[in-house]
Amino acid sequence: MVKTAVILAAGMGERIRERTGDHPKGFLLLDGKPLIEHSILKLLDAGIESIIIGTGYEKEAYEELAVKYPEIECVYNADYETTGSMYTLYKLKDVIKEDFLLLESDLIYEKEALNIVISHPCENVILASKFTNSGDEVYIEADDNQYLINMSKDKQVLNHVSSELVGITKLANATFHKLCSYLEKTVKDFHKMHYEEALVSIAKEIAIFVQQESNIVWCEVDMEEHWQRAINFIYPLIKEKENVVQKVNRKILLNPGPATTTDTVKYAQIVEDICPREEAFSDVMEFVADALTAFVANLEDYTTVLFSGSGTAAVESILSSVIRDDALLIINNGAYGERMCKIASAYGLKFYNFISPADQAINLRLLETFIQNSKLKISHIAVVHCETSTGLLNDIESLGQLCEKHHLSLIVDAMSAFAAIPIDMKEMNISYLAASSNKNLQGMAGVSFVVANKEQVESLKNARRRNVYLNLYNQYAHFKATKQMQFTPPVQTLYALKQAIIETKWETIEGRYERYSKSWETLIEGITRLGMKHLVDRKNHSKIITSIIEPSHPNYNFYEMHDFFYERGITIYPGKVDKQKTFRVANIGNISSIDMEKFIDLLEEFLNELKEPNESEKI
Ligand SMILES: *Cc1c(COP(=O)(O)O)cnc(C)c1O
Repeated sequence: MVKTAVILAAGMGERIRERTGDHPKGFLLLDGKPLIEHSILKLLDAGIESIIIGTGYEKEAYEELAVKYPEIECVYNADYETTGSMYTLYKLKDVIKEDFLLLESDLIYEKEALNIVISHPCENVILASKFTNSGDEVYIEADDNQYLINMSKDKQVLNHVSSELVGITKLANATFHKLCSYLEKTVKDFHKMHYEEALVSIAKEIAIFVQQESNIVWCEVDMEEHWQRAINFIYPLIKEKENVVQKVNRKILLNPGPATTTDTVKYAQIVEDICPREEAFSDVMEFVADALTAFVANLEDYTTVLFSGSGTAAVESILSSVIRDDALLIINNGAYGERMCKIASAYGLKFYNFISPADQAINLRLLETFIQNSKLKISHIAVVHCETSTGLLNDIESLGQLCEKHHLSLIVDAMSAFAAIPIDMKEMNISYLAASSNKNLQGMAGVSFVVANKEQVESLKNARRRNVYLNLYNQYAHFKATKQMQFTPPVQTLYALKQAIIETKWETIEGRYERYSKSWETLIEGITRLGMKHLVDRKNHSKIITSIIEPSHPNYNFYEMHDFFYERGITIYPGKVDKQKTFRVANIGNISSIDMEKFIDLLEEFLNELKEPNESEKI
C-alpha cells in the first residue's frame, strides 16, 4: 500500500487570479476550507501517512498548512515562474523514497477516486475519466489493454482518444527515477516540461495502466467557469456521494421502471421534515422543473409542469387538457398507444385510433393519406416515443415534420425515452411531451411531468375544463405565479429527483444512452447465442427495452423463470403483446453491461435446467 502522496502546487494559477487574489489556487474555499485541505484530509483518511508538497508561487500558504498537519513536508521550487510541473517533481527527488500518489493541487474529487488508485493491482496507474468538456482537458490515448500510449491537450496529436486525465496517479519509485533521468537527458527546454510529457516518453519502456472510471466525480479549477461549476454542481454531488451512510443491498431491476437507483438517490429522500409551501421547497421544485425542460428544450419557449402521480397522469393531463373541438389522432402500435385511446375515450374526445403494426416502423405515407382524407378536422397527433410494450422506437422527428406540414401539434409520450434518447422539442416540432421520475432519470416513482411549449399552454387559458386535478393550464399558471403545485407534492420523491437530475447531468444524456446501448448489445448478443429471438429488429429498436420471444420448451413457465431470477436479485417482466408470447428485459437504470452479462449467464443456467429437468434429481 502506498503511504506517500506528492502534490504539485508550484503553479501560479494565472487564469483564475481574479478570484484567488494572491493566494494559490489550492486555497479557494469550499465550505470554508481550502480545497487543498479537503484533499489532504481525504488522503489521510485513505491511509496516506506522508504528504510532500512541491511549492512555488506563494509558498508560505502551504508552509502554514504544514504547521497544522505534521504529515506535510514542503519543498520549494524557486524557479516556479519559468518551470513546468516535471521540474517541480524533479526537485523532490531527495525526499521521495518510495512508491507514491501524485496529485495536482487544484483538484476537487470524491474519496473513492483515491481508493481505486491505491488498491489498484498495477504499480503504475493513471486515473482517467469520461470526458468532462471542461475546456482544459488532457486527453489520453491507451492501447487495447488499457496501457498508456500518449497524452495531450491537443486531440489532433492522438490517434484515438480513449479518456481524460484526472490528475491522480500512482507511481512506483523506480518509475519516478526513470522520469527524473528522462528530464536530465533532455537538453532543450527541459525545465519547461510537464509531468504528463515525461510519463508519455517513458511509457514505451514502463507499462503505465490507465484506469478508466466513468462515474468518479471530480474537476480541476483553472478558470472562473471551472470554479462556478465546482461550487454549483461538482462539490454538492461529491458531498452527496460521501454522505451515504450505508450501502443499500443492490437489486438489478430489468423491468421497465421504476429502475435501479443509486444509493445517493435513495438517501436524498432522507431530509428534515419540511412544509412544501416553504420557499426552500419551491426552490427544489423550480430547480427540478427547469432542469427537466433544459434536457429537451430551451427555457424561453418551453416549460415543465409537475404533477404528483405516476407517468400516466402526465399523459392523461395532456390529452384531457389540450384537445378542444377538433380531433386527436392517436398512433397506436402497442399497449401505451392503446392506453391513450382509452383516456381519449373516457373524456369523450373526438379521436382517431390509427393502428400500426407493433413490430414495424409507422407507415408515414399511409398516415399522411389518412390525415388528408379524414372527415373531422385533426388538431393534434399523439404518439409514444419508445413503445415500452415492445421496445419499438417511433420516428418522432419525421412525425414532427409531418405535423409542421399539416399545421398539427405533436404530443409525445416519451416516458421510457426521456433522459436516455436525446430529444430536441423545438427541432422536432413537439408541442407537449410526457415523462416521469422513475425511468431513465433513475429517480423514485411519484413525479409525473409535462414539458410544454409555453405559447401553446398559454393558449389554453380560456379553454373549457374537463378536469380539475390534472388540468394542465391551471397547474402551469399556479406554478408560474406561486412556485407551488396546486396540490400536495410528493416531497421526498422530489428531493430524490433533484439528486437524480444532478447525476444525469454528470453522466450526460448522450453518455447515459451510450451505457444503455452497451448493455443492450450485451443482451442481444447473449440471447442470440442462446438461440432466442427478439420481436423488433435492430433498425427500429429503442435499445431501452426488449421483447424476447419465449422459449417453446414444454417445461417453460414465465413465472418460474421470474422466481428463478428474483431469488438471485434480478427482476424481469412479463410480455405485453397480444399475438406473440414474449417476456421483457429493460436495460435502464443504474446498471451496466456487467449486470447484463450476469443476467445472460443465469438465463443460460435456467434454460439448461429446462432441458434436463431431472438431471439434478438423478445426482
Ligand atoms: C411507463 C410508461 C407510462 C406510464 O406508466 P405508469 O405506470 O403510469 O408510470 C406511460 N407510457 C409509457 C410509454 C411508459 O413506458
